[in-house]
Amino acid sequence: MYDSSCIFCQIAAREISSEILHETDSVVGFRDSNPKAPTHILLIPKDHIVSVSDLGDGQGALLADIVQAATHLAKTEGIDVSGWRLVANVGPDAGQSVFHLHFHLLGGRQMAWPPG
Ligand code: 5GP
Ligand code: ZN
Repeated sequence: MYDSSCIFCQIAAREISSEILHETDSVVGFRDSNPKAPTHILLIPKDHIVSVSDLGDGQGALLADIVQAATHLAKTEGIDVSGWRLVANVGPDAGQSVFHLHFHLLGGRQMAWPPG
C-alpha cells in the first residue's frame, strides 16, 4: 500500500514536493525531475507496486487507468497529435532505478527506435 522508504509513495502522499499534473483515485501523474524530452511525465499507481511484473490478477483496471491518464495528459500537454511514448522499465537491463511501478510519458520531440 504505502512504503515510507519509497520516493514515489512520498510524492503521491505529497510528503515530497513535485509538480503533480493529474490525480485520480488510483493514479498520480507528475513531471520527471530529470526530463529526457520536452514532455516527461511519470504515471504511478497510488499503491506501492514494485514494477509491471508485480501486477497481479485483477489489476487490469489499474493499467487501464494509467493509460487513460496518459491519453488525457498527452492532450493537455499538446502532444496528442505529434505523438508520444509510454514506457515502463523493469529490472536492471531496462535501467529501472525507482522500485515503484511507473510509466514514462514522453513527447514533444522526435524519438528514436529502438531506444538505447
Ligand atoms: P526509471 O529509471 O526507474 O525507469 O525512472 C525513474 C525516473 O524517476 C527517472 O526518470 C528520474 O529522473 C525520476 N525521478 C527520480 N527521483 C525523482 C524525484 O524525486 N522526483 C521526480 N519528479 N522524479 C524523480
Ligand atoms: Zn512506493
